[in-house]
Amino acid sequence: MFIETRGNDGVKPIEVSFSDAILSPSASFGGLYVPKQLPKLEENFLQNHINSSYKELAYDILKAFEIDIEEEEIKKALDLYDNFDDASNPCPVVKVKEDLFVHEQYHGPTRAFKDMALQPFGSILSSIAKKRDEKYLILAATSGDTGPAALNTFKNKENIQIACLYPDGGTSDVQRLQMVCEDGKNQKIIGIKGNFDDAQTALKNLLSSQTFKDELEKDGIKLSAANSVNFGRIIFQIIYHFWSYIELLKQEEISFGEKIYLVVPSGNFGNVLGGYYAKHMGVPVEKLLVASNENNILTEWINTGVYDIRNKELILTKSPAMDILKSSNIERVMFSLYGAQRTKELFDDLNNNNIFTLTENETKLLQEEFAAINSDDEYGAKIIKSYLDEGYLMDPHTATCIKAYENLREKDLKTVIYSTAEWTKFSPTVLNALNQDNKTYADKEALEEISSKFNAKLPQSISSLFEAKVMHSIIIEKEKIEEEIIKFIKD
Ligand SMILES: *Cc1c(COP(=O)(O)O)cnc(C)c1O
Repeated sequence: MFIETRGNDGVKPIEVSFSDAILSPSASFGGLYVPKQLPKLEENFLQNHINSSYKELAYDILKAFEIDIEEEEIKKALDLYDNFDDASNPCPVVKVKEDLFVHEQYHGPTRAFKDMALQPFGSILSSIAKKRDEKYLILAATSGDTGPAALNTFKNKENIQIACLYPDGGTSDVQRLQMVCEDGKNQKIIGIKGNFDDAQTALKNLLSSQTFKDELEKDGIKLSAANSVNFGRIIFQIIYHFWSYIELLKQEEISFGEKIYLVVPSGNFGNVLGGYYAKHMGVPVEKLLVASNENNILTEWINTGVYDIRNKELILTKSPAMDILKSSNIERVMFSLYGAQRTKELFDDLNNNNIFTLTENETKLLQEEFAAINSDDEYGAKIIKSYLDEGYLMDPHTATCIKAYENLREKDLKTVIYSTAEWTKFSPTVLNALNQDNKTYADKEALEEISSKFNAKLPQSISSLFEAKVMHSIIIEKEKIEEEIIKFIKD
């Protein structure tokens, strides 16, 4: 069962099932749903899975959560890992240095880590909707990676329609083409004249608008969202942290019980939250190391206990998926460490005053779990270049992890960094780093130059985008979004 991070308002149920928590992810007082308790795994769970496939491991972890989804539906969802480069090992853990390993999370259909959770999540959500005989409109706002992954997973799924908002001019060519060339019958992709913040604000307004919900209700449609506040995504993000450990065991890089560091490039804190849960379910993790870019709010929070956005503005960086001011999933960690009453108090402070302050003791508890550091684009460019000189090509999000690897480790332990995107999604930035210039490259040009000059593999799903037909060319003012979505529903 699932409970609420800010306590119960006396109107919503005190506990809800997994399927309720994922169909309506907003809890009392603006809080989130979390598991009432983390499952206890059998004592030798890790050793027992040393020869398991990813799907077998995933199945056993999901089963331990006792979620209200039928076995057959869980298996069907996990079969979506067949869409990855290697179904038996969808997220390979690759050795780069004696004590440094890269967990590549980008081998799915849209070449970024969002596929790891959204692929199976789309299948689960559609199966619940079908079973309940309900229809859902899924809304998504994207700065580039969530949109393609959500559109891909919900494409032509029964009982689901999906509308996706992106900032026109605010994504890379590859990301935009991955969306606007989609040809599913249940998809609507809308470019907004504005930035990502405008798209996200428009989304939040629609999610809380009663007139919009009433209008959908007339057609028997309910509203849901596919962002990472949804526990249906988080649950799939716990599994791969187990995989990191099991892979190192399998590769005989560690012996059982030996602790490791995990380094996660973070924005909304969903990826590293999965690592936190995995640690508390028994994966021997020394500490979770959080990497940020110039938007250093997470670093400040972890290092000082103060979350202060009063004088902060969002900085647009070359690792845009980590550009964040308000990070949603820190709430689940705070609930776990400080309880519901205190979590509500702190988030009320943040909402009212744009700041909250942890006590010294609370900060200490946080620092027992996490350490954090941030870096800028110039550092990222140097890292991309120097690692390729050693034979490993990485994207700008992954590059932020190296700063944490170099500076935050207090012990000499094996370290896994998470690579959240393939270089193909951010090829102009990668080419600038490799050529040590700051020319403006188009994606197509940069993709071709990198793949020929540095012998890097260009997946068919990316190269084919430039020949694909654009199906969604609409770009509108944000005031027109609601009208446009209603039109889509009525069609
Ligand atoms: C979404 C994303 C992140 C941030 O992950 P969170 O779970 O939001 O912390 C980092 N890198 C890339 C490439 C992403 O797409």
